[in-house]
Amino acid sequence: MADPAVRAPAHPLLRALILLGAPGAGKGTQAKEVARVYDVPHLSTGDMFREHVAKGTELGQRAKPIMESGKLVPDEIVLGMVEERVARQDCASGFVLDGFPRTLPQAERLEEILSLLPLRRALAVNLAVDDEAVVRRIASRRTCLKCGAIYGGGSKQTRAPGKCDVCQGELVQRPDDREEVVRQRMATYHEQTRPVIEFYRRRGQLLELDGAKDIASVRGELLDLLERLQ
Ligand code: ADP
Repeated sequence: MADPAVRAPAHPLLRALILLGAPGAGKGTQAKEVARVYDVPHLSTGDMFREHVAKGTELGQRAKPIMESGKLVPDEIVLGMVEERVARQDCASGFVLDGFPRTLPQAERLEEILSLLPLRRALAVNLAVDDEAVVRRIASRRTCLKCGAIYGGGSKQTRAPGKCDVCQGELVQRPDDREEVVRQRMATYHEQTRPVIEFYRRRGQLLELDGAKDIASVRGELLDLLERLQ
C-alpha cells in the first residue's frame, strides 16, 4: 500500500462523506486527513460551536452550557448552521461531515439538503470503538487553545510538555472532556446517535471501520475505501 500521507487521490470526492462514531472514536482526526487529501472542506459542528463560544456570539452563548453538560444542541440550531455552510461555493466538490448528523431528524433533513446539491450519493463511515477505550482516550486528550491540534488520547505526544508542536499554543483539556461529562456524552451518543448508524445501514449507505486501530491504519483503510468507491 502506498503511503497515504503522500498519495494523491485519483478522483475528486464529489460527495458528502459522513464520519460517524462515539466521542473520541477519531472522527475529527480522520476527517481532517480526508479533507486535506481530497482538498475539500472539513465541517465539524463541534468546532463550529466552539468557535461561536470563543467569539461569544448569541449562538455560542446558547450552545455553551449545553455542550458543557454533554447534551446535544437543539436540532434547529445545528441544522441552520450546517445548511448555511454547505451552500457555500467551497463545498461544490464535496465535503467531510464530522459530528453531524447526530440525531435522526438531523439525518433526515441532511438527505433533503443533499438532494438539492449536484453530488454523488452521500456515504457514511462508522468508526467503531468500544466505550471503555474511548473514555480512556478522551481522558488523556489535550487540545491546543490556539490552533485546535489534538495530542495524547491516541494522537501523538508533544515534543515540549504542555505546548503545541505546531504553534506553541497552550494545551488544555476541553471542558467537555472531563470524565463525568464524557460519561454523559456517551449516554447521549447511545440514545440519540446510534440510530443514525441504522438509518444509513438500512439505506445501503454505511461502511464500517475498526476505529480501535492506530490513527495511521484507520487513515490508510479509509483512504483505500474511498479510492475503491470511485
Ligand atoms: P465529540 O464528537 O468528541 O463528542 P464534538 O466536538 O463533535 O465532540 O461536539 C462537542 C459538543 O458539541 C457535543 O457534545 C454537542 O453538545 C455539540 N454538538 C456538536 N455537533 C452537534 C450536533 N450535530 N447536534 C447537536 N449538538 C452537537
